[in-house]
Amino acid sequence: MKLINNLYFYPEQGMLDCNTYVIKGSPGIIIDPGNADYLTARVDAMHQDGIEPADIGTIINTHLHIDHCSANEAFKKLSGAKVALYPIQKKNYKLVVVDGARLFGMEPGEFTVDSLLEEDRLKSGDIEIEIIQAPGHSPDCICFYLRKEKALFCGDVLFEMNTGRVDLPGGNADYLKKSINALSKLDIEYLLPGHMGVVTGAEKIKHNFDFIKANVFPWL
Ligand SMILES: [Zn+2]
Repeated sequence: MKLINNLYFYPEQGMLDCNTYVIKGSPGIIIDPGNADYLTARVDAMHQDGIEPADIGTIINTHLHIDHCSANEAFKKLSGAKVALYPIQKKNYKLVVVDGARLFGMEPGEFTVDSLLEEDRLKSGDIEIEIIQAPGHSPDCICFYLRKEKALFCGDVLFEMNTGRVDLPGGNADYLKKSINALSKLDIEYLLPGHMGVVTGAEKIKHNFDFIKANVFPWL
């Protein structure tokens, strides 16, 4: 479904899946293709919005937990799009993709990496995305920020009234708190997490940050 302008939202569809976002452009960008088991349904939903796999040029991930990236390889084959990782994601690939999946007793959703995001921004046609490191839930967590739209793709760093877990390989509560504090200073109208619903409106988003700081990290 369309959120605003060229920004589309595809909600998670079941266990070990995540929210997928598409930024339409020439070419477009997909954020977190999700679980490979749900890819057909996801591509159908995109088709309803007039988006075809071939319209997407780049696949990026907020982090590499299996529920966010196990469809990377299949979507690559379907679309011809390239996977671009941030250096910290490549560095932690084994820990997060392989060890993380085995912890769930699952085969890792491995994929081939096509390029590295060497700068803190990604440009694709008219689209310009800022990249913000936000470790804690996982050491490879990054957020994507569309400054003009005031939209933050925050992955599993935080959700509506909660944060991501910190008990998976490389998780760290201190880092998560620091990351959330830093994100709370951004001007955000659309908070777009990796699970559950989106949070819209600056006031509601500020309240969400305040609630998390007061209730999720009272011991830090
Ligand atoms: Zn995760």
